[in-house]
Amino acid sequence: MIRLAAILLLSLLAACDSTEETIYHDQFIAFGTLIELSISGISTERGARVAGEIERQFQRWHRDWHAWEPGLLTQTNAQLATLQPFTLDPALRPLVTEANRLSRLSDGLFNPVLGKLIAIWGFQGNPLPAGVQPDPAAIKHWLANAPTVEDIDIEGSRIVSHNPQAAYDLGGFAKGYAVDRVIELLRGQGIENAIINAGGDLRAIGTHGNRPWRIGIRHPRREGILASIDSSGDTSIFTSGDYERLFEVDGQRFHHILDPRTGYPARGTSAVTVVYSSGAVADAAATALFVAGPHDWLRIARQMGIDRAMLVDSDGAIHMTPAMQAITRLAPDVDAEVLISGE
Ligand code: ADP
Ligand code: MG
Repeated sequence: MIRLAAILLLSLLAACDSTEETIYHDQFIAFGTLIELSISGISTERGARVAGEIERQFQRWHRDWHAWEPGLLTQTNAQLATLQPFTLDPALRPLVTEANRLSRLSDGLFNPVLGKLIAIWGFQGNPLPAGVQPDPAAIKHWLANAPTVEDIDIEGSRIVSHNPQAAYDLGGFAKGYAVDRVIELLRGQGIENAIINAGGDLRAIGTHGNRPWRIGIRHPRREGILASIDSSGDTSIFTSGDYERLFEVDGQRFHHILDPRTGYPARGTSAVTVVYSSGAVADAAATALFVAGPHDWLRIARQMGIDRAMLVDSDGAIHMTPAMQAITRLAPDVDAEVLISGE
């Protein structure tokens, strides 16, 4: 009898476990990257329905927010270039307003209106021929009248630019903004345990069964993981890395995160990871702290309200805030210098 009870109990536990552990996974391509959705404790049927809705949203955002494929943002940039006021489409208004706010908080190091500079560097689907660097004169010309979000006025639904060089490129921010909208959509459907992962940048809510979600952070210089973070509750983890998009000329590496003060790829950093509740803030901050570099990143982090951040400098040393250190486990094979600073 006792034996039977024990067996029953065991099978009950196993059943509980398997329902708790059931995770619905789906994936698709959008924003030029792999988007992966995981939802804990949901039927396949319902999961597929939700994933379909999210995929359709991503395709729409892709069309509306793309910096160079003709669509809403390219039309908006063309209108901005006329320096005449016009009505900003409601599909862009909150996105643009939030990008401008975060740019100000970052002292302009996250600069969403540097589209023309990104194009000069060939990172708008227009790669430069092999072995060619951008024309220094074009960069100098851009710098002479470098656009910032202060050149853009938004009042109600009206927008106007005062700088013909200002053009939005939301590549450093759109993924973060999108994952926030996805989480809103999931919560609106009563889903509380999920991860939306956009090419390694993600927002996780709730838990995975009764365990936290475990998130790996890619090593910037080799295959494998640099560190892992356990997340329960509501957390976005965003990384900006110099390995994402780059080209080499004469052994020199030119990557896609540009310093608006110099017009060249930011130096001194190879990767920054930011942990924060909102994905939009984490994404913009990761880009901004990357540009700020190992000497100024803490100041910009503070200004942006970020207390969990990690920067790998170009010598391989790992800088962390104390709050980041508290949630981060470095991979056992990492023996870099670790510097804890801030607060
Ligand atoms: P990752 O591609 O590693 O996720 P980011 O989030 O930093 O990195 O996004 C890089 C993209 O952001 C670039 O491809 C470009 O579109 C844009 N970008 C580059 N430099 C800046 C900058 N200083 N401020 C804002 N956006 C930038
Ligand atoms: Mg970013």
